[in-house]
Amino acid sequence: MQTVSTFNFAGKKALVRVDFNVPLNERFEITDDTRIKATIPTIQKIIHDGGSVILMSHLGRPKDGPIEKYSLRHLVTPLSIVFGVKVKFAPDCIGEEAIRLASELKAGEILLLENLRFYKEEEKGDEAFAEKLSKLGDVWVNDAFGTAHRAHASTAVIGQFFSEKVAGFVMQAEIENAQKILEYAERPFTAIMGGSKISDKILIIENLLDRATDIIIGGGMAYTFFKAQGGKIGKSIHEDDRMPLALEILAKAKAKGVNIHLPVDNVVADDFSNTANTQTCASGEIPDGWEGLDVGEKSREQFAKVILASKTILWNGPMGVFEMENFQAGTKAIAVAVAEATQNGAFSLVGGGDSVSAVNQFGFNDKVSYVSTGGGAMLEYFEGKTLPGIAAIKG
Ligand code: AMP
Repeated sequence: MQTVSTFNFAGKKALVRVDFNVPLNERFEITDDTRIKATIPTIQKIIHDGGSVILMSHLGRPKDGPIEKYSLRHLVTPLSIVFGVKVKFAPDCIGEEAIRLASELKAGEILLLENLRFYKEEEKGDEAFAEKLSKLGDVWVNDAFGTAHRAHASTAVIGQFFSEKVAGFVMQAEIENAQKILEYAERPFTAIMGGSKISDKILIIENLLDRATDIIIGGGMAYTFFKAQGGKIGKSIHEDDRMPLALEILAKAKAKGVNIHLPVDNVVADDFSNTANTQTCASGEIPDGWEGLDVGEKSREQFAKVILASKTILWNGPMGVFEMENFQAGTKAIAVAVAEATQNGAFSLVGGGDSVSAVNQFGFNDKVSYVSTGGGAMLEYFEGKTLPGIAAIKG
């Protein structure tokens, strides 16, 4: 796969798909510019080489064409400040004006296109729309890993209209770090799976059964396993229809020699509330009217031992309802253990949804090897799927 680091952009117009789907407040000010800052290295490299940049992105979920709330115009001034160049704006992402603005662009200049999703064709992966977009640049750079699992016009379909296709630095970093987990994991390799539902994570767990030495299963999904084994779970979250699947995972893991670690004890509450009464219960012995909202102290110690003995660690999903202070100790204990293992030389990746929020909230984001910003795309990667946005760069 061609990457930004080795490609020479001199004299080229780079059409760069970025993920500028940033949160805006009611005054249209950006409240978190992490996604914008992440693209700085890619854009600087293109400009440094002597190329020009045409940025395209979606913002929000506009349903019926252009709407002020989701206009990328709001990003022009903040982008100009971040990149130190006066960013130009095309009020329509295709059409005559966009073509004119793109063709007039000089080396070192940046043009931002209006929201791609103002056209329904974007999400439909419409070929004609993708071809119109492709006319704006000489080379396609895909730096939007977060949308790489979607076969949209600008994220994948457009690839066929370019002979030169390049992965941006964000895309490259996400892929390289994910590969350290799926392809080159040093053993022992521990996967920590948490979160509310087993159904969301089942494909990842199945894919990891062929790779991991140990899988720690905590959070809400553990209770489906306990109930399936005949345990008492009170009113803990669970999925009855997934119980056969839970038993199947345990059997498969046994057959493949993968150690599955479920919590041995749980912090249970009489209400789904931070002020609920709590007690600690052994797994499978939760009384009626109580629900497990975190893993207990013994489990935390056992999980930490497994983590500290690992050379590769993947963490996806919290161990409990970490949003409530009284049920965050399990998730915090995992963060501490992963940080310590990392300091001792292990490679650790935190990816997908709420475990990312948890490490950020606890201030552990720089104590792990890599925090993925890929969300759903990273989860699909770990399920073993081919992501259309990556395939399009390679193809
Ligand atoms: P997910 O998006 O599947 O990773 O799930 C994350 C959510 O799972 C978080 O909002 C947690 O509060 C929730 N969660 C974790 N453990 C439990 C539990 N034992 N009971 C209910 N919800 C849980």
